[in-house]
Amino acid sequence: MTEFSGKVAFVTGAGAGIGRATALAFASAGAHVVATDIDPDAASETARLAEEQGARAVSTRCDVTRGDDIEAALALTVTTFGQLDIAFNNAGIEQPVAPLTEISEDTWDRLVAVNLRSVFLCMKYQIPLMLHSGAGAIVNTSSGAGVIGIRGQSAYTAVKHGVIGMTKSAALDYAANGIRVNAVCPGIIETPMMDRFSGGTDEGRRRVVAQEPVGRMGRPEEIASAVLWLSSDLGAFTTGHALVVDGGQTVG
Ligand code: NAD
Repeated sequence: MTEFSGKVAFVTGAGAGIGRATALAFASAGAHVVATDIDPDAASETARLAEEQGARAVSTRCDVTRGDDIEAALALTVTTFGQLDIAFNNAGIEQPVAPLTEISEDTWDRLVAVNLRSVFLCMKYQIPLMLHSGAGAIVNTSSGAGVIGIRGQSAYTAVKHGVIGMTKSAALDYAANGIRVNAVCPGIIETPMMDRFSGGTDEGRRRVVAQEPVGRMGRPEEIASAVLWLSSDLGAFTTGHALVVDGGQTVG
């Protein structure tokens, strides 16, 4: 689709689902890959798969709720590859379905930490590296839940809306510095997260697919291709955008 030779792509939540598919898409497009995840074995497996595609890749454990983990993973990026060109801030967790009053304070705090504060921390430590090199492309993972309300998902929709707001403001902050900041908003995508969310049963899968006008779940690779477009020169004039890739889920 496009060429990333010599570019360095840093991915959070790269051990599974959308993160792994996107890390591998960057690898097959010629990028060097930094695969990070809270699960170090999963991240390492992604790096191995990326190397199988001929890429240079490293992996490291990185809990995105921890600024020191993120700084260490970025230091590894620079010592290994010399620069940071692309960041896909993707790690996230789901919310158990519940009306607002039944969401615990702990669940709220965890959703904010993993899905929103993490994106702030990642960009806080990535952008100085991009300012140093004078260019960069960041894609943050929001959701269809970032653009509509969803019954039983107050905490998740709040943080995913927050990701889009932060993306837009950061895009304005750094537009004149050659750094583009965009978000991707996946619909219902076939990943381990969606297996957990649907309960993994035929009935659960039918229930979630019923939300998709196209009549199927998306594949992680279909989100990866959107992330690669946003990160590439094809998207050079696009910043502050939230690209919905959702099979029509949020259309109306
Ligand atoms: P997944 O659960 O399949 O994979 C997520 C990965 O993130 C896992 O490897 C997990 O170990 C890692 N992770 C979890 N907590 C972490 C932490 N604290 N630090 C670092 N890594 C951590 O999820 P997915 O479906 O691939 O989702 C990826 C992103 O896409 C999430 O932000 C999710 O909210 C978003 N999203 C998913 C869907 C969907 O239908 N699957 C839809 C919209 C948005």
